Amino acid sequence: MKTQPIIKNDNLKAIYRAVCRNKAISRARLAKELGLSKPTISLLVDELIRERFLRESSDAGEQNTRTGRRPTYLVPQEGVHLIAVAHWKSEGRWIDFINAGTGKFVEHVMIEDSSGNGCADCSILPELTRRTFDEACSRRSSGKKPKERILGLCIVLEGMLDPERKRFVSTPLGISWEEGEKILLDTENLFRDLCVGIFVDTACTGYGEMITQHLEERDFAYINMGEGIGASLVLHGKMLGGASGAATQLGHICLDPDGPKCRCGGYGCFEALSGEYALYERYREKMPPEFRDALTRLTYADIAAHAELGEQWADEAISEIADNFAKAVRNLITLFCPELIIIGGDVTVLGQRFMDRVEENLNRLDFLFMASKVKTVLGGETDLLVDIGAAGYMTDHYISLADPYRPGLHIG
Ligand SMILES: [Zn+2]
Repeated sequence: MKTQPIIKNDNLKAIYRAVCRNKAISRARLAKELGLSKPTISLLVDELIRERFLRESSDAGEQNTRTGRRPTYLVPQEGVHLIAVAHWKSEGRWIDFINAGTGKFVEHVMIEDSSGNGCADCSILPELTRRTFDEACSRRSSGKKPKERILGLCIVLEGMLDPERKRFVSTPLGISWEEGEKILLDTENLFRDLCVGIFVDTACTGYGEMITQHLEERDFAYINMGEGIGASLVLHGKMLGGASGAATQLGHICLDPDGPKCRCGGYGCFEALSGEYALYERYREKMPPEFRDALTRLTYADIAAHAELGEQWADEAISEIADNFAKAVRNLITLFCPELIIIGGDVTVLGQRFMDRVEENLNRLDFLFMASKVKTVLGGETDLLVDIGAAGYMTDHYISLADPYRPGLHIG
């Protein structure tokens, strides 16, 4: 049973979320939307205004009323409560500071070692993140932002988390389970004064889609195809496995047992066939030699550009990537039938050709009546979504608006 403080915190968050989602909303409409009494709304809203999560405004934006009287609207307070999102990715490491609630971007800071060259050694990431975080915070507070406070830090990484044993593994970052365990321990020791969440990037991007597309009650799958392939599955608005990335490994579903060896040790995995890292090996013999000789890797964007030039090998590559995607989705639909499948990541540059081929494939699944209700769409801009998703997940799951600055380490 939920205790009084938990119910209060849930209601505070529901109000905060609804105001951020609507951008401007009256108390009366808020009460109606959330099914809470006006006195309850009033009490909780006053607390959120006092804590500077919300403020009042007479500017309704587009929400005019017909009464002629100018009512007071509630709007999110910006520039006070920030969330820092640290990205530990193979292509680079950085921290984005964003507004809690709205996810609006504030500042981008690179995480670098003393040589200023980024860091090659991932085992020192906790120290470097702490130093970058402290420097950025003190620079902001010594400037003209004395009201700012950091609600929490999200660390978003490429890999898979094991919340029970407090460890993670990351092939792209070259971190083993043992190293991942030590890195999490160091992180916990270095950030004892802060609420810290360690999350997986695909889960955050999926959560970002859920927030920005208002999919809170829906069943959907977010599939990210980039260097590797990952997914997050959302059932009635709940992400399976939380933000640990441990509930599904769709990139390693076997599509061809006789296929090439995968980074996981298996053969013919979806990502070993159609993940970006596998493309060069897969299509090198088919590319024109003058193009092949100038490359060491091949991206989805390269394939899209060559297909635009009318080169047949590139067209065939797009078809094959779409066919493999459709095979993976077909397997997914047999296990868990979402209403919506969002495709995100670098693969989205393949655009309409890719989508048409996927559609064609899925339409052939007549015997799977479930497939007919699945809609497949392209997702939004990954870099924005991952920040919004990480901060939103953190606020929804680990921050108490009744006691917002309580420290703690949360994995997944
Ligand atoms: Zn694999």
